[in-house]
Amino acid sequence: MSQKVLKVTNTTLKKMQMKYKEFLVDNQPIGSIFVAKKNNCTITAYQSGKVLFQGKSALDEAKSWEKDSISIKKTNNTKKVTAANYSPPNNIEKLSIIGSDEVGTGDYFGPITVVAAFVSDNKVTTLKQLGVKDSKNLNDKQICDIAESIIKLIPYSLLVLHNPKYNNLQESGMTQGRIKALLHNQAINHLIKKVDENIDGALIDQFVVPETYFKHIKGKPKNFSGPYFFSTKAEGVHIAVAAASIIARYAFVKEFDKLSRKAGILLPKGAGSKVDEAAVELIRKKGKESLRAFTKLHFANTEKAMRLV
Ligand code: MG
Repeated sequence: MSQKVLKVTNTTLKKMQMKYKEFLVDNQPIGSIFVAKKNNCTITAYQSGKVLFQGKSALDEAKSWEKDSISIKKTNNTKKVTAANYSPPNNIEKLSIIGSDEVGTGDYFGPITVVAAFVSDNKVTTLKQLGVKDSKNLNDKQICDIAESIIKLIPYSLLVLHNPKYNNLQESGMTQGRIKALLHNQAINHLIKKVDENIDGALIDQFVVPETYFKHIKGKPKNFSGPYFFSTKAEGVHIAVAAASIIARYAFVKEFDKLSRKAGILLPKGAGSKVDEAAVELIRKKGKESLRAFTKLHFANTEKAMRLV
């Protein structure tokens, strides 16, 4: 008896279910969407997107779906844990993906915002039409407009790490890499609870090598074992990361404005000399202890501002 496994998208699964409509059987294993028996082949489709073809005509039957399938890596026992295992597949654009990204890690003032967003294969076109793309090519006004329409369309999870808590974690010895990894992981975990569709994988805008990421979060989480993909400039790899990035920047801009009002001065973004000057003004106005509530204290800007005061 021959057998063949294909991995397909949600859309293809639905197509298959239609195509095999008259061959469906009742006896379904756990985790499967449908089982069909056609001629000499049993076709079992799973929620994970995997479809198993078994029987004499399995290879022929599978062949007609091969062009719609997603390449799956052959599992073998000597599977090496290398960066390559986490690189996104060539057809990732067509998959239903959770994307995650963060904003604010390089800004002296303001929080870190992290967003995980889920974009199913059937929403990709709509998001493109709304103008979702790499947020570096968009200004704050465009980002806010786009964010306000996409937050109504897709499931997402937003975390805001405010400055006092950030400073406590940093002083307790946590690196920024670890803080980011924990936030990404938490955002993904929250998001999974909101998604009841098939998830083909999670794509993280890479800030550390995958091995370090999993070390930081102490192994893969139980409720979502992957597949995980990592890529730098992931906004251009799947629109889910571009969407996550836009929502994260939108939240950051809003928090930043709130903070500016609270400080009573217009706080600049980034970590340049304008930022030093604003920090000096803040110290003169509210005392050096106030920095804890507005800044990432361990940045060199703190020392510079203290010297300038
Ligand atoms: Mg990023």
